[in-house]
Amino acid sequence: MARGELGEGGGEKVAAEREAAAPAEDPRLQGIFSSIRVIPHFPKHGIMFNDVTTLMLRPQVFKDTVDILAERYGGMAISAVAGIEARGLIFGSSVALALGAKFVPLRKPNKLPGKVISEVYTLEYGHDCLEMHVDAVQAGERILIIDDFIATGGTISAAIRLLDRVGANVIECACVVGLPKYKGHFKLNGKPIYILVECRN
Ligand code: AMP
Repeated sequence: MARGELGEGGGEKVAAEREAAAPAEDPRLQGIFSSIRVIPHFPKHGIMFNDVTTLMLRPQVFKDTVDILAERYGGMAISAVAGIEARGLIFGSSVALALGAKFVPLRKPNKLPGKVISEVYTLEYGHDCLEMHVDAVQAGERILIIDDFIATGGTISAAIRLLDRVGANVIECACVVGLPKYKGHFKLNGKPIYILVECRN
């Protein structure tokens, strides 16, 4: 399945459909949902890009996002939050601060200066790679992985493999927004996935 593919009718129905599909359970989720701008055909034709930078322009909504995640994981003895480049670094480091946990950046190739381990993963077209400093996490540590968006799950799967390789214990993977199939009890590489709001697909 293509990542965030556009359906018939293009972007005009986006606002109405997003409103209709908005979650009702926690009032803060509605604000998060409606603050994510959807840009059709970015970075290429057919992709519905979920732009979370508009969420970050609203300090209360940004705070709500971090608060909800900190509330969920506050009692889970998370020792490290691993954030995925690029927007996962922003949400992940914020949640790490709120939890009093350490923050571990998972970055694209050749960005980290120390000794790294790498995991290649498949994109819709081609491949990409995530790297982590080998000494950032010790075996047995309880890890929360954070990214902004989950589509195919390839990126999160690579992140889980990196943490698995050093013997860390990935407790859960959280994304701000994702495909509807991830809402519920979906698992990736045996690890639970948690998304705050569903994207339009
Ligand atoms: P995937 O590996 O297919 O789950 O893609 C998730 C990663 O790609 C995340 O790091 C996202 O930032 C980025 N991404 C993929 N598709 C989109 C999209 N439609 N909107 C925003 N970000 C996306």
